[in-house]
Amino acid sequence: MTQFAALRHLPRPSDRRIALHVSPAAEKSLRAGHPWLYESSIIKQSHAALPGDLAVIYDKKNRFLAVGLYDPVSPIRVKVLHAGKPVNINQDWFYEQLTEAADVREPLLATQTNGYRLIHGENDKLPGLIIDRYADTYVVKIYTAAWLPHLQAVLAALIELETPERIVLRLNRALQADNIGLRDGQIVYGEPLTQPIIFYENGLKFAADVVQGHKTGFFFDQRDNRSLVAQHAAGKHVLDVFAYSGGFSVYAASGGAKSVLSLDVSAPALAAAQHNMALNQQHPAVARATHEVIAADAFDSMTRLHQERRRFEMVIVDPPSFAKSSAEFDRALAAYARLVRLALPLVHKNGILVIASCSSHVSSEAFFRTITDTAQQQSRPIREIARTGHALDHPIGFLEGAYLKCLFAQV
Ligand code: SAH
Repeated sequence: MTQFAALRHLPRPSDRRIALHVSPAAEKSLRAGHPWLYESSIIKQSHAALPGDLAVIYDKKNRFLAVGLYDPVSPIRVKVLHAGKPVNINQDWFYEQLTEAADVREPLLATQTNGYRLIHGENDKLPGLIIDRYADTYVVKIYTAAWLPHLQAVLAALIELETPERIVLRLNRALQADNIGLRDGQIVYGEPLTQPIIFYENGLKFAADVVQGHKTGFFFDQRDNRSLVAQHAAGKHVLDVFAYSGGFSVYAASGGAKSVLSLDVSAPALAAAQHNMALNQQHPAVARATHEVIAADAFDSMTRLHQERRRFEMVIVDPPSFAKSSAEFDRALAAYARLVRLALPLVHKNGILVIASCSSHVSSEAFFRTITDTAQQQSRPIREIARTGHALDHPIGFLEGAYLKCLFAQV
């Protein structure tokens, strides 16, 4: 197996597997393929174990049910890797999972796209693990220490399958705070990075900061929605609220928008948006569109734009997640309603509102109803053009895996 100097200090997978017996309800849910086993469902455990030790779950007749990564600090005590027949979890097994996932993404390769999500966590049977491809650079993001003993095997499998030039490791917030001897954004394989990575999406060029950018540097999940924006943008003045690095803005310009205004609180994100617009000047439509940015709070700026009587034929609103837990559900819906109240006055008659939610704790029904009801209350009823969800590289493998919903509506 390839040796990774930066990872030499990580624990090795333990030889000793944990044996678990679980409640009848958990047994049923695991049999149905659910990737999580909660601590509260464990009836019997063979011994205390460390993060990432393999846990074998047996059914009530003592037959193998599933195997997963033990995670002693999480209420989701086991992240299930496989259910059904016994398997060995090693580089070969990871290679098989990566191959399966790569096959699903195959159609994207025919669309001038080399930036996409290769592994989408539980939805690709690798809970708590994300792998995003940015041209020849791959970004591996882990959300639990349970992956640490298996990281070398995963990376070796990734190298075997995809021959990347470079692998960047990203850590979630909890892991950044832990003392694991790894840095968020560390290059664990290949040459150091001196500038953003350039990749293609539907023939458009983007630069992403995979070391410090949000998530892994870009929001691939909105690819199809960006395409739909391009299809509707011709001749329009477009406002892109929560623009980040300008994904929607560039697509709007490529679709023939007259002007694009990108709004975000982050000045560096808007600098990236301007850079991305500049990268696509060889497209005549992008070259023709005028581009303006506003670095300020979205709520304040939308109010101000209204006072200045600015109007747009298309307004895109793609906010960050408003509900990190189910307790924040009501607050999140209130925030979406507020955004709709601020956005509608900015939309010309017969213009288009595009609004998305990436909060997994807000159901699509609740989200779409809030948007429709709020528009009704504002006496700006909307006619739906499309409701969309996940792009192909963000498959939905289980109920909790669905998070993205987006509404295209004529106002
Ligand atoms: N639409 C983007 C992704 C948006 S991510 C894309 O397709 O790539 C959410 C963005 O909201 C981030 O860039 C963040 O800087 C911005 N943001 C968060 N809170 C904000 C606020 N109050 N006002 C303006 N922007 C905000």
